[in-house]
Amino acid sequence: MPTFRRLAPPASGRPIERREGRLAVPDDPIIPLIVGDGTGPDIARATRQVLDEAVRKAYGGRRRLAWFEVPAGEAAHERLGEWLPEDTLEAIRAYRVALKGPLTTPVGGGIRSLNVTLRQVLDLYGCVRPVRYFQGVPSPMRDPGRLDVVIFRENTEDVYAGIEWASGSPGAEKLRRFLAEEMGTQVRELSGLGIKPMSPFGTQRLVRMAIRYALDHRRASVTLVHKGNIMKFTEGAFRDWGYQVATQEFRDQVVTEEELTRDHGGQVPPGRLVVKDRIADSMFQQVLLRPEDYQVLATPNLNGDYLSDACAAQVGGLGMAPGANIGDEAAIFEATHGTAPKYANQDKVNPGSLILSGVMMLEHLGWGEAARLVLRGLEATIAQRRVTYDLERQMEGATLLSCSAFGRAIAENL
Ligand code: NAP
Repeated sequence: MPTFRRLAPPASGRPIERREGRLAVPDDPIIPLIVGDGTGPDIARATRQVLDEAVRKAYGGRRRLAWFEVPAGEAAHERLGEWLPEDTLEAIRAYRVALKGPLTTPVGGGIRSLNVTLRQVLDLYGCVRPVRYFQGVPSPMRDPGRLDVVIFRENTEDVYAGIEWASGSPGAEKLRRFLAEEMGTQVRELSGLGIKPMSPFGTQRLVRMAIRYALDHRRASVTLVHKGNIMKFTEGAFRDWGYQVATQEFRDQVVTEEELTRDHGGQVPPGRLVVKDRIADSMFQQVLLRPEDYQVLATPNLNGDYLSDACAAQVGGLGMAPGANIGDEAAIFEATHGTAPKYANQDKVNPGSLILSGVMMLEHLGWGEAARLVLRGLEATIAQRRVTYDLERQMEGATLLSCSAFGRAIAENL
C-alpha cells in the first residue's frame, strides 16, 4: 500500500495490479486524476461525466472508476509550494493508470516542463497518439477518413534527451576541442552543440510496444519511420534494431516487407503482421497520398513529434487529438493541447481531446465496451452538429455548446 504525506486515497476502490506482465484491473480501479491548469478543470469535469456514464451504462453498475484527484501544476504550487508533489508521483506509480489535463509549463524556477518531468521520472517511454477521423469534423483533406493510424513515438532519447550546450559556453568549447583533438572532427566555431543518443534498449522496448499493440488490435502493419539514409548510426540503427525485435521476438506472427516480396509473392500469409520501414520525409508524403497503407507507426522522438501533429491536422486539428504516455510500470492518458489560459473558467473549450484520451484509458484497462460507447456518443453528437466553439466556427449550421453542455450531449448520446 502506498503511503502519502498529505493525500488520502478514495475510501472505496482498489489498486490496479500487474501480474505476468499484464494489468489486473479490479471492477473499481483507483484512477489518479490531474485536473490540470487553465481550462483543465472544465474539460476534466466534462470528461469524468462522460466516462462515468459510459462505464455505468456498459456494465450496469457492476464496474466504476474510483477517481483520486491528485495535485500538480499551478494549483499545487499555490497551495503546497510544489509544482509536482511527490505524493502525486507516488499515486501514479502505485495505481499505474492516470488521467491528466494540461499543465502550465512554469517559466524559470529550474523546471523544464512538468510533462517532460512526469515522463522521465516515471519512465513513460512510449508516447502513443491514435489519429482517426470523426465524421463531420472540418478537415483540410478531401477524404480525411482514409487516415487511421496509431503513432508510437519514443519518448526518452534522441535530440530530446536535453544534452546540449549553448554557443560560446565552456561546455560547447570543451566538446568542440574534444571532437577536434580526440576524434578528428571539425565543428565550426561558436556552434551550439547537442547530442542525439539512441540505444538498442530504448528503441527495442518502443518497437515491442508498437508490435504488441498491432497484434492485440489486429492491425495489418507496423512501419518503422526513420531518417537512416542520413543518420546511419542513430536513425538507421533504429530501423535495424526494430527489425531485430520483430524477427527475433515475434517470428511466427510477423512478416517483413522484404520477405513478403521475396518469399510470398506479395501476399500476406494469413494472420501475419507486416513490418516495414519508411524514410521519414517519404512518410509525410505517404500519410497524405496512401494513408490506407499504414496502421501503426513506430518512430524516434523527433520524427514522431512532427508526424503526430501533421497527422492530427489531416483529420481536423489538435482539438480532438488524444494521447498517452506509457511505460512498463505506469501510464498517463492526457489531452494533447495546452491549458488555453485565455479561456480558463469560461466553460467554453472542447473537451474532446481529454475524452478521447479517456477512451484510450478504458481500452488500456480492457474495458472496450465502455470505450466504444463513448466513441458512439461523441460521433453522434458531432453528427448532430452540436459542438464547442472551435468546431462550430468552421461548421455550417452547427449549434454552439459550452464545454459542459457538449459533455452532457455526449453522455445522452452514449
Ligand atoms: P494551447 O493551450 O494548446 O492553446 C493554443 C490554442 O489552441 C488556443 O488558444 C485555442 O485556439 C486552441 N485550443 C487549445 N485547447 C483547446 C481546446 N480544448 N478546445 C478548443 N481549442 C483549443 O497552447 P499554448 O497557448 O501555447 O500553451 C498554453 C500553456 O499550456 C503553456 O503553459 C504551455 O506550456 C502549456 N502546454 C501544456 C501541454 C500539456 O500539458 N500537455 C501541452 C502544450 C502546452 P483559439 O485561440 O484559436 O481558440
